[in-house]
Amino acid sequence: MLEDEFEWHRKQGVKPIINVSGTMTGLGASIAAPGVAKATAEAMANFVSIHQAQEKASEVIARLTGAEAGFLTASASAGITLSIAACITGLDPARVEELPINIGEKNEVIVQSGHLCGYGAPVAQAVALSGARVRSVGQSTLCMDHQITGAIGRTTAAALFVVSHHVVHYGQCPLKRFVTLCHKAEIPIIVDAASEHDLRGFLKAEADLVVYSGHKFLGGPTSGIVAGRRDLVRAAYLQNIGIGRGMKIGKESIFGTIAALEAWETRDHAAIRTKEAKALGSWTHALSNIPGVTTTRVADPTGNPIDRLQVDINSEEVGISAATVARLLGERDPAIIVRTHGLDLGYFQLDPCNLLPGQAERVATALREVLSSAETSAAKPGDTEIARNGSTRAYLDWGKS
Ligand SMILES: *Cc1c(COP(=O)(O)O)cnc(C)c1O
Repeated sequence: MLEDEFEWHRKQGVKPIINVSGTMTGLGASIAAPGVAKATAEAMANFVSIHQAQEKASEVIARLTGAEAGFLTASASAGITLSIAACITGLDPARVEELPINIGEKNEVIVQSGHLCGYGAPVAQAVALSGARVRSVGQSTLCMDHQITGAIGRTTAAALFVVSHHVVHYGQCPLKRFVTLCHKAEIPIIVDAASEHDLRGFLKAEADLVVYSGHKFLGGPTSGIVAGRRDLVRAAYLQNIGIGRGMKIGKESIFGTIAALEAWETRDHAAIRTKEAKALGSWTHALSNIPGVTTTRVADPTGNPIDRLQVDINSEEVGISAATVARLLGERDPAIIVRTHGLDLGYFQLDPCNLLPGQAERVATALREVLSSAETSAAKPGDTEIARNGSTRAYLDWGKS
């Protein structure tokens, strides 16, 4: 029997989902923060000057980030592309219209090799959409100062610094040092902080532009936030007459994101942490005393104030692999979608940030059911491979029939 929280799913004829994965594009990102749905709906019924709407967004972004100015675009990925374009064209509309073909002499963007991750698409491609080329610096697990300074030259337009659990977490040049080295050569630094809670720290560390997603932890509509130096923010905004057109944001998402930023200011973060800790506790309890299953509370790798529960599966002892457990949970109704990075290493994680009331308990019950009665027959060959390739597979399979 489905409960009321899934009434919308029944009406739309779509499968109910309990999200213990995180803010994933493929799951609809996040649950809207208080006031967001109303602000979005109210905007739909009215005309407004988009420039004035973006001025209002700029004020709120500046207040929360400490930036000189900011604006909104379609996504963080779009924000990266537009920020790099800004460093190439400045405020010259003729040059804006030439991108991405005639980009000019300054056509390279410096990125540490260990930062060249994917977040559903390659970050290098978000750079390339502007017309610029990525100049990868160092090796994947080590980036030394001389490699950065040696890569900077006449053709360098900007440097990109990526903050993410997806990047390599050791051997990388930290932001402060990266800023020092790049600023010595007057190269602007763009920080991709799409999934970070810290709205002030990157600009405080003297990054020139920082990019956030509006639809991740902020709980806004799908959007990207660009904040930082006024001249660069204006140049990034100007890209709306060029490559930014296909990345545009509408009035509804502008006012929805403003509402999400305002809700962030007044959110009771401590109460949310307490609720999340309770969920982790109930899952730890549910999984205790199951032979071959080990749970560990792990901190977020980039320092967001989130703990997740890591569930290690000894497949010999349990009879099935972590990948099979993840699949079985996903096949239930409602589907329980776990955090799957690490399946190849024999674990999955449970993220408590996107739960509705009562769902933590349902996840605990489902975990116990799947794991205490694990049937080896449930294992399908290749579950781990399918999990690794699954995100692309789903796009390929879509629309087949
Ligand atoms: C999610 C994410 C992005 C992309 O954000 P969108 O707003 O969905 O385009 C970019 N970079 C990082 C590090 C991310 O986590």
